[in-house]
Amino acid sequence: METRIGFGYDSHVFKPGVQLHLGGLKLEHPQGLAGHSDGDVLLHAVTDALLGAVAAGDIGKFFPPSDPRWKNADSAVFLGKAVDVLQHSGYRIVNIDTTLILAAPKIGPISDQMRARLADLLGLGTDQISIKAKTPEGLNLDNVAQCHAVALIERVIEPEELKSMSAGIEDQSHIEDVVDDLLSSIHDAPKKRVAPVYDTDDIT
Ligand code: MG
Repeated sequence: METRIGFGYDSHVFKPGVQLHLGGLKLEHPQGLAGHSDGDVLLHAVTDALLGAVAAGDIGKFFPPSDPRWKNADSAVFLGKAVDVLQHSGYRIVNIDTTLILAAPKIGPISDQMRARLADLLGLGTDQISIKAKTPEGLNLDNVAQCHAVALIERVIEPEELKSMSAGIEDQSHIEDVVDDLLSSIHDAPKKRVAPVYDTDDIT
């Protein structure tokens, strides 16, 4: 079975009076993370790890900060796109490991909740998601949240199979439906499990 890994990193500065979004959760905290989107540094790092694993580019390629559509966007949309790209390349996620680096809030007490949320967004089990956290000792970066993420993926559809599935099908959306059908049988789950994050209400 072919496996690949991807790595992602992101950082955002804390800003008073902004809702803190972290790991797909809205957290009670005096400061949030500044950014064009909701500033969820963990979801951004995981998105980049997934896109990197299939050499598809990075989050900025799919969602340029210059595009007003992504102003205050729910970062679950970015993550959903990365999962889509990965699945349509014929892969599934084996596991994801992350390390947050931030002075506050404390992640330990909420890490399981965060893992559950990420597992839900990715259609995985919580045992496939790891969230660790450190304080930025000696970095003089208490006003910044950083996150590192790695993702291991494995091929579930061979390239020839992907090609033959699309052979003779001219309509791209039809190709995606065919791939979705196959993926839903492999992943033993309803089609487009991440579809709710595409609700346009989420990105306005
Ligand atoms: Mg970011």
